[in-house]
Amino acid sequence: IRTNVYENNIVTSPYADCEFHDMTLTQKFFESAVRWPDKIALECGISGRRYTYNTMSQAVCRFGSALTRMGFMQGEVMGIIAPNLPEFPIAMFGAAGAGMPVALVNPTYTADEIARQMTLVEATCLFGVSEMAETLKAVAQLCPTVRRIVLLGPSQDGCVSYQDMMQDSGDLFNDNIKIDIDNDIFILPHSSGTSGLPKNVMLTHSTVGKNVQQYLHPEGTNNRPATDTHQETYIGFLPFFHSYGMLGLMLSAVESGAKLVTLPRFDVPSFLKAIDDHQPTYLHLVPPLVSLMTNLPEMKAESYSRVHTIFCGAAPLGAPAIMKLLERFKQPVSFQEAYGLTEMSPGVMMSPLGNKKLGSCGSLFSRTKAKVVDLETGQRTLGPHEDGELYVTGPQVMKGYLKNQQATDEMIDADGWLRTGDIGHYDEDGHFFIVDRLKELIKVKGFQVAPAELEEVLTTHPAIKEAAVIGIPDERAGELPRAYVVKKPGMESVSECDINAFVNAKVSAHKQIKGGIQFCDSVPRSNIGKILRRELRVQYANSCK
Ligand code: AMP
Repeated sequence: IRTNVYENNIVTSPYADCEFHDMTLTQKFFESAVRWPDKIALECGISGRRYTYNTMSQAVCRFGSALTRMGFMQGEVMGIIAPNLPEFPIAMFGAAGAGMPVALVNPTYTADEIARQMTLVEATCLFGVSEMAETLKAVAQLCPTVRRIVLLGPSQDGCVSYQDMMQDSGDLFNDNIKIDIDNDIFILPHSSGTSGLPKNVMLTHSTVGKNVQQYLHPEGTNNRPATDTHQETYIGFLPFFHSYGMLGLMLSAVESGAKLVTLPRFDVPSFLKAIDDHQPTYLHLVPPLVSLMTNLPEMKAESYSRVHTIFCGAAPLGAPAIMKLLERFKQPVSFQEAYGLTEMSPGVMMSPLGNKKLGSCGSLFSRTKAKVVDLETGQRTLGPHEDGELYVTGPQVMKGYLKNQQATDEMIDADGWLRTGDIGHYDEDGHFFIVDRLKELIKVKGFQVAPAELEEVLTTHPAIKEAAVIGIPDERAGELPRAYVVKKPGMESVSECDINAFVNAKVSAHKQIKGGIQFCDSVPRSNIGKILRRELRVQYANSCK
């Protein structure tokens, strides 16, 4: 590992260039699966339903073949709107193998929220679970491009059953169909980027495939490929629809022959039971879970005795919280913090092995570069220990936002540098520290909340003239949305409770305005009408003193 990691204030990776391949992610999955056919690949932590790498491969072929038999063509988009179940990766690799990009949405979203994303990507097929049948039917009503809904679980009128698709012989599956890995889209997650409403992020087979190789660089990971006597075990409750769960759990599991135990949602009893039953070797966490785990009553030593690495990302985490968690293990455990963003497929940096700098996001992935630019002029690249906006570049930069060239151009400059909207610095070893956020994004329990989306919902309330939303710090969730609302004349009697009821009926739980609503006479704006959220953040911080 190199130590001379910056020159002219451009920081480079300390790792040797990793190898890349030219396969689609489905081809790569098949290539991995034949290496350990009889090892368990997927197991539902609730029902115990399991697939070996061999049976998973067969299911992927059947699913892809059935999609082709149903008339879906290469380039049509399938939306996966499902909790973490073993069939999630099966549907994803099957669709991707049939040349269908997969759009990813949080399954706890309301029908309106799902339909918004599915309309933008013009999805023609939706995949979900029977419990969500009514929501998905409502989505199909709102989104006329949808031709079929595929459901896992008891069959439902008007929907195709996943179990029926598994009767397919698999003979129409052809993983040699011409997929251009550099241009064809593998997944379409969404992100609000530095401002505005959520946008669909185009991640190709190449950007994601390369990011898997960068993340699993042998010099930077404890993740070891499966052998006769060894198999990594992950407990997969971080959602697969988010790029962190997609890369850190699903794609790296199949790459290394790991066993992935899926949990459809996070609740403490099933998390503890999955740990007792499966004795993971790796724990993938987000900051709110670090404090939750630290405060859990007695941890059974034998259930945790195989844990060698804890991995945490998606939001900031301080060193004291990490130390408290590590004290709970009897054996030495590596702690690796990662930093990334959906637009970077998503991994950018991660703590090195033998991490001594708790609280830092570590060093750049192989073949990745970064610079810190001063906040006043946006021109000058800064040296070590100076805070500014972080820019990054590498083979994992997204292809762009779907059908939104303007937002793409605002995010990626002509030289391929991607604006992260995060504020931070690096030290003399090229280790990065994220200290604040310039962009308007709010992160609640690691999930994105776009203030612009909540402001749009608020201003559809008949009593509201204007609204501005900011994130405020919260010990449990990391951040919570807080709204500043100007009422229309004559609407003085409308209460915070009325507005919350209105918003809660339209948005999913993590977007609810749990940081409070403050009524005011006006919302601070710049002379071109942009909401000055920073001013509101300062105002809020002062009110807490
Ligand atoms: P997402 O696209 O949902 O993954 O969100 C990306 C954003 O999450 C980044 O731009 C950061 O603001 C934040 N983030 C991710 N990882 C970290 C981290 N380790 N420390 C601080 N912020 C983080």
